[in-house]
Amino acid sequence: MPYFSEKLLVMHAKLLFASLLIFLTSCSETPKYPYGIAPVSDVEEYEKSIQKSPSNRFVDLENELNLARFDIRYATANNFTSEIIYPEAAAWTRIDVAKSLSQIEDSLAKHGLGLIIFDAYRPYAATVKFYQVYKDTNYVASPYSGSRHNRGCAIDLSLYDLKTGRELQMPTKYDDFSSAAHQTTESPDSTAQYNKVFLRKVMTEFGFEVYNYEWWHFDYSGWDQYEIMDLSFAQLKSSSAD
Ligand SMILES: [Zn+2]
Repeated sequence: MPYFSEKLLVMHAKLLFASLLIFLTSCSETPKYPYGIAPVSDVEEYEKSIQKSPSNRFVDLENELNLARFDIRYATANNFTSEIIYPEAAAWTRIDVAKSLSQIEDSLAKHGLGLIIFDAYRPYAATVKFYQVYKDTNYVASPYSGSRHNRGCAIDLSLYDLKTGRELQMPTKYDDFSSAAHQTTESPDSTAQYNKVFLRKVMTEFGFEVYNYEWWHFDYSGWDQYEIMDLSFAQLKSSSAD
């Protein structure tokens, strides 16, 4: 039956070709990062998440806060990597985080104080970069779990005097990766110790959790309800514009 064998052979060849195509397609879908995390990385997916739950929306803190000063270190080379990580200075958080920060701002104003924001939402790509530069996961987040900054639910900040504009004395500078920056380390400088405890008190009063290793870092309670994101500031801006 030579005719049937020929037909079978063609069928087999077609099948082989189809399998090869499927294999090649699956190869091209290799995840972007090798850490087992698939962050939200396109605007469409982000906008769908807002339709599902409005609390997923990101807002620009510069529009939400009135008295805060912004000193976004990763948009400059003045950070522990000595490299410019963010192409522009921006401070975005999820909408509920911003509402809490706005309440904190009002409360601080009664004491003549304002917030200095060092960092807010951090795209996942930046967390990967930090880990490549500095592998101690007490101070930089592991890319295997991602950072709470990647979820738009963490904030790095300090305080300044509204009258003089001067930053308040704190136990260490921002991003000082030493035990002197720990919440549990009593600062030998009593003013710095007082300011650290005061900042901690006001942050926890309005829904933030303390992170022991860094006096400047606070996580918004319920951070685990939010996804890890890898949208750039420009993408967030383009999405909020329409
Ligand atoms: Zn932080």
